[in-house]
Amino acid sequence: MESVVKTIPSVLILLGPPGAGKGTQARMLEEEFGLVQLSTGDLLRAAVAAGTETGQKAKAVMDAGDLVSDDIVIAILRDRLGEPDCARGVILDGFPRTTVQAEALDDLLAETGQKINAAVSLEVDDAAMVARISGRYTCAGCGEGYHDRFKQPQRTGMCDKCGGADFKRRADDNAETVAQRLQAYHAQTAPLITYYDSKDVLQRIDAMGDIAAIATDLTAMVEKSMT
Ligand code: AMP
Repeated sequence: MESVVKTIPSVLILLGPPGAGKGTQARMLEEEFGLVQLSTGDLLRAAVAAGTETGQKAKAVMDAGDLVSDDIVIAILRDRLGEPDCARGVILDGFPRTTVQAEALDDLLAETGQKINAAVSLEVDDAAMVARISGRYTCAGCGEGYHDRFKQPQRTGMCDKCGGADFKRRADDNAETVAQRLQAYHAQTAPLITYYDSKDVLQRIDAMGDIAAIATDLTAMVEKSMT
């Protein structure tokens, strides 16, 4: 198999159920450490919006809150990891989500002798997740995340980061789909906590607090894992 993965100095994984704050924290780590946030959910949503073959196959599965097939997700991750900007180091947000994906990532990194610095489990209560997810939205221009209750823009209707006035909500952020996504997390993704623990790269973080406090804990943890 041809190696597409160049040398990537740091590989961080964020694990956690939908709504745990993986995307928000990954964006902060991206700014703080100059790493690249790599979200398979974002890549799939882009494929859906572009109407590609992958997007057409993934759409119904995503709308139902189920997991897209390992083959599809591994292929898009592999392509993205091969792009030049990933040579700065990556934060994987929403990947891997199954043991098959975790093993595929190990194989991919083994091709160039790289290791995972840390797999951080963002620990939260299921009950809080539904409230977090149902109120969230993002700036359509720059992707900055907001929430009806927990984080509104400083000026109503204007993004704090880029000044944009267009906001969007995800199609799968509704009560039924969220329940299914939580179920998929517990059945298929939570076993990865044990998987990474057995490889001695697991870190746990209490992700029930406010965004800034979690970011402080996470930054300290990541700094340690990169030395
Ligand atoms: P996310 O943005 O990470 O919450 O992902 C949104 C949806 O995309 C999920 O509910 C899945 O349907 C799909 N998805 C994202 N990443 C993966 C993955 N690693 N494996 C399978 N499906 C995924």
